Amino acid sequence: MRLVLLGPPGAGKGSAAQVLSDQLGLVHIASGHLLRDAVRAQTALGRQADGYMQRGELVPDHLVTAMVLEQLEAVAKDRGFVLDGFPRTQAQAVELDAALGRMKMLMDRAIYFKTSPETIVSRLAGRRVCQSCGANYHMTNHPPAVADVCDRCHGTLAQRDDDKPETISQRLKVCLRETEPLLGYYRERGVLRTVNGDESVEAVVRHVIAIWEREQLRFGERR
Ligand code: AMP
Repeated sequence: MRLVLLGPPGAGKGSAAQVLSDQLGLVHIASGHLLRDAVRAQTALGRQADGYMQRGELVPDHLVTAMVLEQLEAVAKDRGFVLDGFPRTQAQAVELDAALGRMKMLMDRAIYFKTSPETIVSRLAGRRVCQSCGANYHMTNHPPAVADVCDRCHGTLAQRDDDKPETISQRLKVCLRETEPLLGYYRERGVLRTVNGDESVEAVVRHVIAIWEREQLRFGERR
Protein backbone atom coordinates (compact mmCIF):
# COMPACT_ATOMS: atom_id res chain seq x y z
CA MET A 1 0.00 0.00 0.00
CA ARG A 2 1.53 3.27 -1.12
CA LEU A 3 -0.38 6.31 -0.03
CA VAL A 4 -0.13 10.06 -0.19
CA LEU A 5 -2.26 12.06 2.25
CA LEU A 6 -3.39 15.48 0.99
CA GLY A 7 -5.21 18.27 2.76
CA PRO A 8 -4.77 21.47 4.74
CA PRO A 9 -2.83 21.72 7.99
CA GLY A 10 -5.06 20.45 10.80
CA ALA A 11 -6.94 18.02 8.54
CA GLY A 12 -5.69 15.09 10.62
CA LYS A 13 -3.20 13.67 8.10
CA GLY A 14 -0.47 13.18 10.70
CA SER A 15 -2.72 11.43 13.22
CA ALA A 16 -4.24 9.17 10.58
CA ALA A 17 -0.78 8.37 9.16
CA GLN A 18 0.39 7.40 12.65
CA VAL A 19 -2.51 4.94 13.07
CA LEU A 20 -2.19 3.55 9.52
CA SER A 21 1.49 3.00 10.09
CA ASP A 22 0.90 1.22 13.45
CA GLN A 23 -1.99 -0.92 12.17
CA LEU A 24 -0.68 -1.85 8.74
CA GLY A 25 3.08 -1.73 9.22
CA LEU A 26 3.50 1.10 6.71
CA VAL A 27 6.48 3.42 6.94
CA HIS A 28 5.27 6.90 7.90
CA ILE A 29 7.23 9.65 6.18
CA ALA A 30 6.25 13.13 7.38
CA SER A 31 8.09 15.96 5.64
CA GLY A 32 7.23 18.50 8.37
CA HIS A 33 8.58 16.17 11.04
CA LEU A 34 11.81 15.58 9.10
CA LEU A 35 12.22 19.33 8.63
CA ARG A 36 11.59 20.09 12.32
CA ASP A 37 14.24 17.47 13.23
CA ALA A 38 16.67 19.15 10.83
CA VAL A 39 15.94 22.58 12.35
CA ARG A 40 16.44 21.25 15.88
CA ALA A 41 19.71 19.58 14.87
CA GLN A 42 20.80 22.79 13.07
CA THR A 43 21.89 20.89 9.96
CA ALA A 44 22.57 22.85 6.76
CA LEU A 45 19.07 21.92 5.54
CA GLY A 46 17.54 22.89 8.89
CA ARG A 47 19.17 26.30 8.85
CA GLN A 48 17.88 26.96 5.34
CA ALA A 49 14.36 25.72 6.11
CA ASP A 50 13.85 27.47 9.45
CA GLY A 51 12.79 30.93 8.26
CA TYR A 52 10.29 29.58 5.71
CA MET A 53 8.67 27.37 8.34
CA GLN A 54 8.45 30.17 10.91
CA ARG A 55 6.67 32.34 8.36
CA GLY A 56 4.27 29.55 7.36
CA GLU A 57 5.69 29.42 3.83
CA LEU A 58 6.70 26.35 1.88
CA VAL A 59 10.35 25.34 2.03
CA PRO A 60 11.75 25.42 -1.55
CA ASP A 61 11.00 22.31 -3.58
CA HIS A 62 14.59 21.22 -4.19
CA LEU A 63 15.39 21.11 -0.46
CA VAL A 64 12.30 19.16 0.59
CA THR A 65 12.24 16.80 -2.37
CA ALA A 66 15.82 15.61 -1.91
CA MET A 67 15.21 15.00 1.79
CA VAL A 68 11.99 13.02 1.33
CA LEU A 69 13.11 10.98 -1.67
CA GLU A 70 16.24 9.92 0.15
CA GLN A 71 14.08 8.46 2.95
CA LEU A 72 11.66 6.93 0.50
CA GLU A 73 14.31 5.22 -1.56
CA ALA A 74 15.76 3.69 1.61
CA VAL A 75 12.47 2.04 2.66
CA ALA A 76 10.07 1.74 -0.26
CA LYS A 77 11.45 -1.44 -1.81
CA ASP A 78 10.51 -3.63 1.14
CA ARG A 79 7.52 -1.91 2.69
CA GLY A 80 4.45 0.10 1.90
CA PHE A 81 4.48 3.72 2.98
CA VAL A 82 2.28 6.65 3.82
CA LEU A 83 3.50 10.10 2.85
CA ASP A 84 2.19 12.91 5.05
CA GLY A 85 2.80 16.52 4.03
CA PHE A 86 4.61 15.63 0.79
CA PRO A 87 4.05 16.39 -2.04
CA ARG A 88 2.72 19.88 -1.50
CA THR A 89 3.37 21.28 -4.98
CA GLN A 90 2.98 19.89 -8.46
CA ALA A 91 6.77 20.00 -8.96
CA GLN A 92 7.17 17.76 -5.90
CA ALA A 93 4.51 15.36 -7.20
CA VAL A 94 6.29 15.09 -10.57
CA GLU A 95 9.63 14.34 -8.84
CA LEU A 96 7.94 11.77 -6.62
CA ASP A 97 6.41 9.96 -9.58
CA ALA A 98 9.77 9.99 -11.36
CA ALA A 99 11.47 8.46 -8.28
CA LEU A 100 8.77 5.79 -7.98
CA GLY A 101 9.10 5.10 -11.71
CA ARG A 102 12.84 4.47 -11.26
CA MET A 103 11.89 1.91 -8.59
CA LYS A 104 9.24 0.42 -10.97
CA MET A 105 6.44 1.51 -8.66
CA LEU A 106 3.28 3.59 -8.84
CA MET A 107 1.48 5.55 -6.17
CA ASP A 108 -1.57 3.48 -5.21
CA ARG A 109 -3.83 6.20 -3.87
CA ALA A 110 -3.85 9.88 -2.91
CA ILE A 111 -6.31 10.46 -0.07
CA TYR A 112 -7.70 13.98 0.21
CA PHE A 113 -8.81 15.01 3.70
CA LYS A 114 -11.63 17.47 2.91
CA THR A 115 -11.94 19.56 6.05
CA SER A 116 -14.00 22.57 7.19
CA PRO A 117 -12.26 25.78 8.32
CA GLU A 118 -13.82 25.46 11.82
CA THR A 119 -12.27 22.03 12.32
CA ILE A 120 -8.88 23.21 11.09
CA VAL A 121 -8.71 26.17 13.46
CA SER A 122 -9.82 24.16 16.50
CA ARG A 123 -7.42 21.28 15.74
CA LEU A 124 -4.40 23.52 15.22
CA ALA A 125 -5.05 25.66 18.30
CA GLY A 126 -5.24 22.53 20.53
CA ARG A 127 -2.47 20.53 18.89
CA ARG A 128 0.58 19.51 20.91
CA VAL A 129 3.52 17.62 19.44
CA CYS A 130 6.11 15.44 21.14
CA GLN A 131 9.50 17.10 20.91
CA SER A 132 11.26 13.72 20.77
CA CYS A 133 9.24 11.36 18.54
CA GLY A 134 6.87 13.78 16.76
CA ALA A 135 3.64 12.07 17.93
CA ASN A 136 0.57 14.33 17.73
CA TYR A 137 -1.89 15.03 20.54
CA HIS A 138 -4.84 17.37 21.02
CA MET A 139 -5.58 19.02 24.36
CA THR A 140 -9.26 18.01 24.30
CA ASN A 141 -9.78 15.41 21.51
CA HIS A 142 -6.70 13.29 22.16
CA PRO A 143 -4.92 14.28 25.36
CA PRO A 144 -1.93 12.31 26.69
CA ALA A 145 -2.38 10.23 29.88
CA VAL A 146 -0.11 12.63 31.80
CA ALA A 147 -0.32 16.33 30.93
CA ASP A 148 2.42 17.48 28.52
CA VAL A 149 4.13 14.05 28.46
CA CYS A 150 4.19 11.77 25.41
CA ASP A 151 2.45 8.38 25.97
CA ARG A 152 4.84 6.67 23.57
CA CYS A 153 8.30 7.89 24.54
CA HIS A 154 7.75 10.16 27.61
CA GLY A 155 9.13 13.14 25.65
CA THR A 156 7.84 16.65 26.34
CA LEU A 157 4.82 17.97 24.43
CA ALA A 158 4.77 21.52 23.10
CA GLN A 159 2.80 23.72 20.74
CA ARG A 160 4.44 24.14 17.36
CA ASP A 161 5.59 27.69 16.64
CA ASP A 162 3.70 27.61 13.37
CA ASP A 163 0.42 26.58 15.08
CA LYS A 164 0.08 30.09 16.53
CA PRO A 165 -2.82 32.08 15.03
CA GLU A 166 -0.75 34.55 12.99
CA THR A 167 1.05 31.73 11.15
CA ILE A 168 -2.00 29.50 10.74
CA SER A 169 -3.75 31.90 8.36
CA GLN A 170 -0.60 32.15 6.20
CA ARG A 171 -0.30 28.34 6.06
CA LEU A 172 -3.92 28.02 4.97
CA LYS A 173 -3.41 30.58 2.19
CA VAL A 174 -0.33 28.71 0.98
CA CYS A 175 -2.25 25.45 1.03
CA LEU A 176 -5.04 26.87 -1.14
CA ARG A 177 -2.58 28.32 -3.64
CA GLU A 178 0.01 25.52 -3.88
CA THR A 179 -1.57 22.34 -2.66
CA GLU A 180 -5.15 22.37 -3.93
CA PRO A 181 -3.94 22.10 -7.57
CA LEU A 182 -2.44 18.74 -6.60
CA LEU A 183 -5.95 17.33 -6.35
CA GLY A 184 -6.28 17.74 -10.13
CA TYR A 185 -2.91 16.07 -10.66
CA TYR A 186 -3.96 12.94 -8.79
CA ARG A 187 -7.55 13.01 -10.07
CA GLU A 188 -6.27 12.90 -13.66
CA ARG A 189 -4.25 9.82 -12.77
CA GLY A 190 -7.36 8.12 -11.35
CA VAL A 191 -5.92 7.64 -7.86
CA LEU A 192 -7.59 10.46 -5.90
CA ARG A 193 -10.06 9.48 -3.16
CA THR A 194 -11.71 11.84 -0.65
CA VAL A 195 -12.44 11.30 3.04
CA ASN A 196 -14.16 13.65 5.48
CA GLY A 197 -11.40 15.25 7.56
CA ASP A 198 -13.99 16.56 10.05
CA GLU A 199 -14.54 13.01 11.31
CA SER A 200 -12.50 11.37 14.07
CA VAL A 201 -9.12 9.82 13.32
CA GLU A 202 -10.62 6.35 13.88
CA ALA A 203 -13.42 6.99 11.38
CA VAL A 204 -11.04 8.38 8.76
CA VAL A 205 -8.71 5.41 9.14
CA ARG A 206 -11.69 3.03 8.75
CA HIS A 207 -12.60 4.79 5.49
CA VAL A 208 -9.04 4.56 4.16
CA ILE A 209 -8.89 0.84 4.96
CA ALA A 210 -12.31 0.35 3.34
CA ILE A 211 -11.04 2.05 0.18
CA TRP A 212 -8.03 -0.25 0.21
CA GLU A 213 -10.16 -3.39 0.70
CA ARG A 214 -12.73 -2.39 -1.88
CA GLU A 215 -10.08 -1.61 -4.51
CA GLN A 216 -7.53 -4.25 -3.63
CA LEU A 217 -7.80 -6.08 -6.95
CA ARG A 218 -6.89 -2.97 -8.86
CA PHE A 219 -3.99 -2.26 -6.54
CA GLY A 220 -2.66 -5.71 -7.41
CA GLU A 221 -2.99 -5.09 -11.13
CA ARG A 222 -1.22 -1.76 -10.98
CA ARG A 223 1.96 -3.06 -9.36
P1 AMP B 1 3.61 20.18 8.43
O1 AMP B 1 4.16 19.57 9.67
O2 AMP B 1 3.37 19.16 7.36
O3 AMP B 1 2.40 21.06 8.69
O4 AMP B 1 4.76 21.14 7.85
C1 AMP B 1 5.25 22.23 8.61
C2 AMP B 1 5.99 23.20 7.70
O5 AMP B 1 7.10 22.53 7.09
C3 AMP B 1 5.18 23.75 6.55
O6 AMP B 1 4.38 24.88 6.91
C4 AMP B 1 6.28 24.11 5.56
O7 AMP B 1 6.94 25.31 5.94
C5 AMP B 1 7.27 22.97 5.75
N1 AMP B 1 6.97 21.82 4.85
C6 AMP B 1 6.56 20.57 5.22
N2 AMP B 1 6.40 19.78 4.14
C7 AMP B 1 6.70 20.54 3.07
C8 AMP B 1 6.70 20.31 1.67
N3 AMP B 1 6.34 19.12 1.15
N4 AMP B 1 7.09 21.33 0.85
C9 AMP B 1 7.48 22.53 1.35
N5 AMP B 1 7.46 22.82 2.66
C10 AMP B 1 7.09 21.85 3.53
